[in-house]
Amino acid sequence: MTKNVLITGASRGIGASCAELFAKFGYKVAINYFKSKEKALSLADKIIKNGGLAETFCADISDPNQVDDMYIKIKQKFGNPSVLINNAGISEQKLFSDITLSDWDNMFNVNIRGMFICCKKFLPYMINQKYGRIINISSVWGISGGSCEVHYSSSKAAVIGFSKALAQETALSGVTVNCIAPGVIKTDMMAGYDKQTINILKEAIPCGKIGSADDVAHAALFLASEKSSYITSQVLNVGGGFKI
Ligand code: NAP
Repeated sequence: MTKNVLITGASRGIGASCAELFAKFGYKVAINYFKSKEKALSLADKIIKNGGLAETFCADISDPNQVDDMYIKIKQKFGNPSVLINNAGISEQKLFSDITLSDWDNMFNVNIRGMFICCKKFLPYMINQKYGRIINISSVWGISGGSCEVHYSSSKAAVIGFSKALAQETALSGVTVNCIAPGVIKTDMMAGYDKQTINILKEAIPCGKIGSADDVAHAALFLASEKSSYITSQVLNVGGGFKI
């Protein structure tokens, strides 16, 4: 099986860790980015210098035209991915009373519409070749709900419903669809949390520490492997036992 992976939102954080890890394990890595071009380019350079294969592809995943362009470029330069990691996401902390309709739409545009658009584009090849792995990054907040994150939590709950439903349809075609629900992971997304909040969160994590982007990447690597063929429609919590 060709080891080609497309990782959305791979310029930073969890996506970037997935890119490095998958490259180490012999995958040719398509790094999607939106705004962080320099970071994406330097990540691709690093992978190539370490003997891996990677290319960068710019697209706002919530825009179907940009995803169409990315799809064409990926097909030409890179080959069709047999693994798609829908990782790109945004978050925001706000009281429910302060969330505007535009905040709500932005959240859903990236976190779930973007996933829908990418699956529409990249799934048909997987079905044709009767093999594929789709890994959708949700969140523990999508399971338990997070205070001051109604729009984020709702979008991440939608990711789970989406994945479970799609998994039913694709199972006989050899395409698995699973979710990872990270807990509290040290990336830029956590930058808005103050020290006190981080300490409170740490105390709530049975493992006693904040997770790393690598912790999530290793889970994704397993779900992407041929060894995980009998696992589909699942949500894997990578959160050190964090509350669900
Ligand atoms: P991050 O460090 O903020 O990185 C977010 C990534 O998403 C960036 O590479 C960014 O690309 C990309 N992105 C954002 N909007 C995009 C768009 N419209 N099109 C394409 N790419 C876009 O976040 P992270 O912590 O690694 O989060 C990755 C995923 O894990 C997200 O889905 C997040 O919800 C989920 N998650 C994170 C945590 C956590 O504690 N960190 C916990 C649970 C779930 P550019 O910079 O190039 O624009």
